[in-house]
Amino acid sequence: MPKKIVILGGGTAGWMAANLFVRKWTAEQVSVTLVESPDIGIIGVGEGSTPFLERFFKLIDVDDAEWMPRCDATYKLSIRFAGWSPASGIDDYSHPFLSQVDHFTERAFVTNCRTRRLGLDVHTHPDDFFINGLLANEGKGPHTPDSFPFIVGYGYHFNAGLLGEYLGELGVSRGVTHLQTKIDDVEQHEDGSLAALLSDSGERIEADFFVDCTGFASVLMQKTLGVKFESFKSNLFNDSAVVMPTPGSDSPRPETVSYAMSNGWCWKIPLTTRYGNGYVYSSDFISADDAETELRTFLGTLDSDESARHLRMNVGQLERHWEKNCLALGLSQGFIEPLEATALLLVQIAIEVFISSYEQGEFTNKLCDEYNAKIHERFERVRDYIVAHYKLNTRDDSEYWKANRENMQLSDSLRHILDAWYRRKDLTEEVQRQNLESHFTSLSWHCLLAGYGAFPALAKDQPGTGDRYLQENVQRFLSRCALNFSPHRDNLASLHPNPG
Ligand SMILES: Cc1cc2nc3c(=O)[nH]c(=O)nc-3n(C[C@H](O)[C@H](O)[C@H](O)COP(=O)(O)OP(=O)(O)OC[C@H]3O[C@@H](n4cnc5c(N)ncnc54)[C@H](O)[C@@H]3O)c2cc1C
Repeated sequence: MPKKIVILGGGTAGWMAANLFVRKWTAEQVSVTLVESPDIGIIGVGEGSTPFLERFFKLIDVDDAEWMPRCDATYKLSIRFAGWSPASGIDDYSHPFLSQVDHFTERAFVTNCRTRRLGLDVHTHPDDFFINGLLANEGKGPHTPDSFPFIVGYGYHFNAGLLGEYLGELGVSRGVTHLQTKIDDVEQHEDGSLAALLSDSGERIEADFFVDCTGFASVLMQKTLGVKFESFKSNLFNDSAVVMPTPGSDSPRPETVSYAMSNGWCWKIPLTTRYGNGYVYSSDFISADDAETELRTFLGTLDSDESARHLRMNVGQLERHWEKNCLALGLSQGFIEPLEATALLLVQIAIEVFISSYEQGEFTNKLCDEYNAKIHERFERVRDYIVAHYKLNTRDDSEYWKANRENMQLSDSLRHILDAWYRRKDLTEEVQRQNLESHFTSLSWHCLLAGYGAFPALAKDQPGTGDRYLQENVQRFLSRCALNFSPHRDNLASLHPNPG
């Protein structure tokens, strides 16, 4: 059982781990040190989250009003996918984070999806069925008056650099020892496990357990312990990104928009001070220069002096996320491209599963294998969900989109999901059979498939009945619910002690 943990790397992953550890254990139980190089810096992208980040802040006991203004953060109610499936007649759709109110409308949605799969023309656009999509469309935030009894699910947009700084200060104030130095070498015990980090200034930093948060460099796991990396390149083609900010809006929308581009997609993330934008693409299909020109044209910044940043992405995961006395977290353990902003979600799940393994009391090989199997499975199921976005696209403007649609390198799990959908079987049953609910719920799969208009052709005869959207007057119900919400802009202003 480790008593001294050293985290190498001070990006979001390293500081999330440090904060959760010191919140969980007293200094007498486990001492936590975080080492980072002042010269290498953090990746500085990754500005959108899932609702899991709200859970993270709850676990470390920090309110929105405390951290959000410090990090230029806004609320995120959904992700809007624009231009991914033009041939289905759907220009864009909002993929909502689910809220309690949705319990009242989800049955109508799932039933209509089934009816539509049988060929009848009923409403299936996710925007029409879920409160978050409606709120995002109306520019409203997730704050509700006390009289509104339902919880609204939300994530965040934030400045990654500022979040790293904030979490660093918080961690240090709560007992994390912070060392700023570059690690040049690693000392290992005879059995290969890690003994100490050796810094370029001659320090020897010992511990009995290490956490590799060194980003794509993967200094401890890949470089020192030789853990192999499994690439996802055969079914996730994107390996590069070009990013640049643009001026912000007074009224930031509470959603990320993901626009399909010629050879990838572009995120637009609204912060309180600026937009973060980035074109994620496959270098097999478009050059870095052409991607930058396309991004600038799209953003209207062709003549701007603002420079763009180019990044390479290693998409895949380690064969083992816990090896000997070392755990990998964040980009050092793997990355599944940012389409669903799932990276920090995976970091947090990995930390929480590790903490619960620690609490079990003995670090056996069996425990370590079980941990690895769980995290491996997580990565694979998130990958499948993202692959589905590409597989379902109906664009014909480039070889990239056609290759994605024709991609047959699908996991059995994903094949079974698509099979159940297209064969008009019960998708919820299939999701339950595969035990996938903890990754993405059946409702999320319905939203994705319906959002892409992935339906068979309409039947010739339309009896004209059976539309639960109309029968249950879902539109009236949701618009009445939305009356309880105030503009997103006002929600953000209320977080500042002195708005304006
Ligand atoms: C294009 C792109 C878009 C993304 N979008 C999202 C998103 O929307 N949502 C999301 O959740 N995630 C996103 N991510 C992922 C997200 O950026 C990362 O998961 C997150 O920032 C955590 O990074 P990290 O802490 O693992 O690594 P980094 O931020 O790279 O930190 C690495 C740390 O290791 C230290 N280090 C490295 N080598 C040494 C050494 N030898 N000695 C000492 N210190 C060392 C560095 O100094 C640094 O502190 C995106 C990633 C990319 C590439």
